Amino acid sequence: DLLLATAMADETGNQEEGIRPQRLDDYIGQKELKSVLHIAIQAAKGRNESLDHLLLYGPPGLGKTTMSLILATEMGVNCKITAAPALERPRDIMGILCSLKEGDILFIDEIHRMTRMTEELLYPAMEDYRLDITIGKGQTAKTRSIPLPKFTLVGATTRVGSLTSPLRDRFGLIQRLRFYETDELTLIVKRTADVLKVCVTEEGAEEIARRSRGTPRIANRLLKRVRDYCQVNKVESIDRKFAEEALEVFNVDPMGLDWTDRLVLKVMIEQFNGGPVGLEAVASATGEDAQTIEEVYEPYLLQIGYVHRTPRGRVATVAARKHLNYE
Ligand code: ADP
Repeated sequence: DLLLATAMADETGNQEEGIRPQRLDDYIGQKELKSVLHIAIQAAKGRNESLDHLLLYGPPGLGKTTMSLILATEMGVNCKITAAPALERPRDIMGILCSLKEGDILFIDEIHRMTRMTEELLYPAMEDYRLDITIGKGQTAKTRSIPLPKFTLVGATTRVGSLTSPLRDRFGLIQRLRFYETDELTLIVKRTADVLKVCVTEEGAEEIARRSRGTPRIANRLLKRVRDYCQVNKVESIDRKFAEEALEVFNVDPMGLDWTDRLVLKVMIEQFNGGPVGLEAVASATGEDAQTIEEVYEPYLLQIGYVHRTPRGRVATVAARKHLNYE
């Protein structure tokens, strides 16, 4: 089972790599982010220096990891990818820092989840490219400094507010990723369809894009589900009608809301009279984890105006009631 699981992970992993855009010009949308980074790349190259440390924040699936890999390609360096939960012990971060070469990019996902000890090792590493380690304990303890190559840290987080300020202050660039527009997602769907050798019409791609909650990762995932549906039904090309039909089957509604989104709204409307209601109460009534609701489901519901946040809690709006056919 383990072998099978790894093989499957490999397969999806490889496919994922094929789908990811490789160059800045292929990265669709996020105009502001791209222009800021374009300047940063040109300037760093002109000075023959490494890029400034960069913090990317925004909901999952918007292209943070992808952008980090693109930066490495554009700078002609390597990118090491890790996540804060894998860096629990100081030796984990020491190992990875010591393995870096001049100019390399170190991508740390979920950077708000670093332990304090690991985080404190990062401060001098980011600021002075130096690793401070303490050898021994108590009065005989000595601190040694190991020089590090000039690397670039790219941190990614869904909750920028949870970062400590000393960590945040050490990033030269702090950029937010936004939800994508439907026309941008349509381009992404068409591009992925090309990579996967799937035939999709303009309207078919647009229908998938419209239901992707502004998120490229979801757009790619829905495209794969629609492809399966078409293959089983022996349909050659994905048009609008088939996209609609398939996505109904997979429980994705015309606004792109899935079963959990609708459950969250339903609970707010039926059990809490539309709110205001606290996050924890919604979490326990839906059986979902509060953090998942806050980071995965809520941002899009806020974006499309189905939920408002007030000082007294969350409120389901009239638009949400209409969408779910409440009076
Ligand atoms: P994050 O790190 O923010 O969770 P990822 O970088 O892993 O998101 O992106 C998820 C998927 O969406 C990737 O496989 C990539 O193919 C696709 N993707 C993300 N952003 C873009 C974009 N701007 N253009 C095209 N595809 C994108």
